[in-house]
Amino acid sequence: MSAGEAPVAAGVGAPLVDTHGRVHRDLRISLTDRCSLRCTYCMPEQGNEWLAKSSILTVDEIVQVARVAAADGISTFRLTGGEPLLRADIVDVVRRLSAITGPDGARVQVAMTTNGIRLPELLPGLVAAGLSRVNISLDTLRRDRFAALTRRDRLQDVLAGIAAAAASGLRPVKLNAVAMRDVNDDELVELVEFAIAHDAQLRFIEQMPLDAGHTWDRDRMVTQAEILATLSTRWVLTEVPGRGGAPAARWLLDGGPHTVGVIASVTAPFCGDCDRLRLTADGQLRNCLFSTTEYDLLPTLRTQPAAVHDEGIDRMLRACVHGKLPGHAINDPAFLQPARGMNAIGG
Ligand code: SAM
Ligand code: SF4
Repeated sequence: MSAGEAPVAAGVGAPLVDTHGRVHRDLRISLTDRCSLRCTYCMPEQGNEWLAKSSILTVDEIVQVARVAAADGISTFRLTGGEPLLRADIVDVVRRLSAITGPDGARVQVAMTTNGIRLPELLPGLVAAGLSRVNISLDTLRRDRFAALTRRDRLQDVLAGIAAAAASGLRPVKLNAVAMRDVNDDELVELVEFAIAHDAQLRFIEQMPLDAGHTWDRDRMVTQAEILATLSTRWVLTEVPGRGGAPAARWLLDGGPHTVGVIASVTAPFCGDCDRLRLTADGQLRNCLFSTTEYDLLPTLRTQPAAVHDEGIDRMLRACVHGKLPGHAINDPAFLQPARGMNAIGG
């Protein structure tokens, strides 16, 4: 039996609840595996095996999947990649997704995670098209480090993207930084200060075993405890209660209003509250970043008659949710890193 044929009753409009009682409300949609950077923790410098162009979902196909997902209770779509702003039709994708409504008639939220490089030219159009929120990745403020880490000398372009986000009406703007030993762990305070100065929220991410080169080393990972210890030398940190399903735990800085977040997927997994599913650019549904099973939507979308697409998509969403494990098992000695790198899964 293939992954898509799990014995799960279909029913467009029913919530997506897994066997552990988790209700799914968030779908991460990867729009491409291509990128303008080559971050060491995500992509190889060369020799990346790109997804076949013919397998990349069209905007019509993405919208078909998203409509069914929204009917089943998904209320947030996060566009990611690869670099989502490399999609030539990105404004159209945002416009069409943000017009989708859920069972209660409310419009879905459309957020995006981006390296920021194309934001100055694209953000006004994206906001007009209905984009709700933006997260921008920024690991260092030093040009030489940025160039070494991303293998591209484009820090100024990212900073221009952050300035564009700060000048837009979108709030909160979030900045994501992967904390790395001997790479940027002496910049943690500086990054938070930069975020505060740009009316943004910094969130540190523990590095995860998702690099295309499979070089992740637990001993080199900067942990949440280390991040908090470093930040405590500068601010009094008070944990913000009521995190819900959010991946980042947050702390008030000196009593607020500014906060810092930490996404501690490795040392403090939040799988018990996970409400996320993922759709790769080539039409594979995934129930976890670290899953080694995928649920292929391409046969449904491309070979079945249009009249049965919704039912087929719904069945596949339910099979994917049904197959979700209680946790990601990174900390299990038998853990196997997924074959795809982060750029092809969608962060
Ligand atoms: N290109 C966009 C960007 O960089 O924001 C979107 C895609 S990227 C894969 C999404 C997020 O995943 C980024 O914040 C990036 O820092 C994070 N990421 C990538 N590889 C990671 C890894 N191995 N561990 C932790 N975070 C990672
Ligand atoms: Fe590109 Fe984002 Fe991966 Fe960096 S983390 S290589 S910007 S997809």
